[in-house]
Amino acid sequence: MKVLIAGGGIAGLVLALKLRRLGIESEVFETTQHMRPLGVGINLLPHAVAVIESLGLREAVAARAIETSALHYYNAFGQPIWQEPRGLAAGYPVPQFSVHRGEFQMLLFEEVQRLCGESAVRLGHSFVSLEQSDDEVVATFARPDGSTVQARGDLLVGADGIHSAVRRFYYPDEAPPRFAQRMLWRGVTEAPPYLDGRTMFMAGHQDQKFVCYPISEPLRREGRSRINWIAELRVPGGTPPRSDWNKVVDKSVFAGRFADWRWDWIDVPAVIDGAPAIYEFPLVDRDTLPRWSFGRVTLMGDAAHPMYPVGSNGSAQAILDADYFAECMGLLQQGRFSSPAHALLEYEADRLPKTTGIVLRNRLNGPEQVMQIAHERAPGGFAHIDDVVPRAELEEIAARYKRVAGFDIERLRARAA
Ligand SMILES: Cc1cc2nc3c(=O)[nH]c(=O)nc-3n(C[C@H](O)[C@H](O)[C@H](O)COP(=O)(O)OP(=O)(O)OC[C@H]3O[C@@H](n4cnc5c(N)ncnc54)[C@H](O)[C@@H]3O)c2cc1C
Repeated sequence: MKVLIAGGGIAGLVLALKLRRLGIESEVFETTQHMRPLGVGINLLPHAVAVIESLGLREAVAARAIETSALHYYNAFGQPIWQEPRGLAAGYPVPQFSVHRGEFQMLLFEEVQRLCGESAVRLGHSFVSLEQSDDEVVATFARPDGSTVQARGDLLVGADGIHSAVRRFYYPDEAPPRFAQRMLWRGVTEAPPYLDGRTMFMAGHQDQKFVCYPISEPLRREGRSRINWIAELRVPGGTPPRSDWNKVVDKSVFAGRFADWRWDWIDVPAVIDGAPAIYEFPLVDRDTLPRWSFGRVTLMGDAAHPMYPVGSNGSAQAILDADYFAECMGLLQQGRFSSPAHALLEYEADRLPKTTGIVLRNRLNGPEQVMQIAHERAPGGFAHIDDVVPRAELEEIAARYKRVAGFDIERLRARAA
C-alpha cells in the first residue's frame, strides 16, 4: 500500500506520520521548493493535540507553544462579555496550544524526514493532473524547471490547501473562494505579557475585531510574550485580492480604526506598532462540497473544507481528517472494507458532514457570536454583561460550538479513558 499526498502543509505532514505508524508508505509532494516557517499563529484545540500526542510530539510542541489557559471575549470598549478556561485549565486531558504555524509545520516536516527518510517529502512538486485505473492512481507533478514527474500509488490525497489543484481537477468550474467582505491583517509582536501571558482574547464584533494570543513558550520563560494578533474590518464591496498568506502591507491601511483601543491591561495600537511585518488576507471560505472521494482519490484539510478562521478550527479539523483517514486505512488493512475506494467513502462519510457543519456555523460567527449579540443589544457598551445577555445564553453558545466542532470535554475525557 502506498499513499501519494499532494501538499506538505499541516494535514499532509500529519497524515504521513499517522500512516507510518501503520506501516503504510506515503510520499508527500509539496509545491514549495524550500520549506520555511511561514505564517503566524494558529491554535491547536485539545482534540487535535490528542492526535499530536499519539504521534509522540506533544512535548516537542509544548517546548515551542503556549499552553493556552483561557479565552476571553470583550466588546469594542474592552468590557468583558465571556471568559472560559481552556485546555488543561478547563479539565481537558490534553492542553490547547497556541503556536507559530511555520514552527509547527517545520517540526512535522523534520519528523517526517527523520522517520520516513529525506526523500519522503518531494519539494518543488506541484500537482497538475491524475489518472486512475482499477489498480492504481498515477499523478503528474510539475517541477520548477517546467518538466513533469509521474508518481504511482494506491491512493492520492489532495491536501493542497485553499487553492487546491486536486479539488480543481474534480470541480474545474468552481467559483473562486467566497469573500466575506472582511479583511484580516495578521502580525506577531514581541512585548511584555498581557493578563497571565497564556490567554487568548477577542474584542469587538463582526465588523471590527481584534484577536490576540501569545505563541512562544521560550519567550514566556524569559518574562516576555510573542503575541500573535489579527485585526479584522468589514471593507467595501468589490473583488477580493487573491488570498495569499504572504502578502505584506502597511499598517496605515487599518490601524487608525483601532487607535483608541487602549485598556488598562492591553494597548492594542502598541501591539500593532510592534510588528515587524503585517500580512493581509481576505476572509474567505468555499461552499461546501457534496463529495470529496472519487475512486482512489480524496480531499483533506483546507482543500476539502476551507473555513473562516473562527473558533480556531482550521488546523484542528485538518489534523482530525488525517487521523480519521489513517483509522480507515487501519480498518482496510484488517479487511474491514472491500476496497481502498470503499475506505475513502467511509472517511468522507464521517468527516464531510462534520466539517460542513463547522464551515456553515463559522459563517454565523461560531462561538464569536457572543460578541455580535452583545454589540447588537448594547452598541454603546454596558455596565455589566448580565444586563445585556443572560449567562445561560452565553454558556449555551460556547457549549454548542464545542459539541459541533467535536471538542466537548465529556467526549475527550471518554476517549482518553
Ligand atoms: C504559507 C501559509 C501560511 C499560513 N499561515 C496561516 C496563519 O498564519 N494562520 C492560520 O490560521 N492559517 C494559516 N495558514 C493556513 C493553515 O495552515 C491551514 O488553514 C490549516 O492548517 C489546514 O492545513 P492544510 O494542510 O489543509 O493546508 P495548508 O497548511 O495551507 O497546506 C497546504 C499545502 O499544500 C501546498 N500546495 C498548494 N498547492 C499545491 C499543489 N498544486 N501541489 C502540491 N502542493 C501544493 C502548499 O504549499 C501548502 O504547503 C497558512 C497556510 C500557508 C500555506
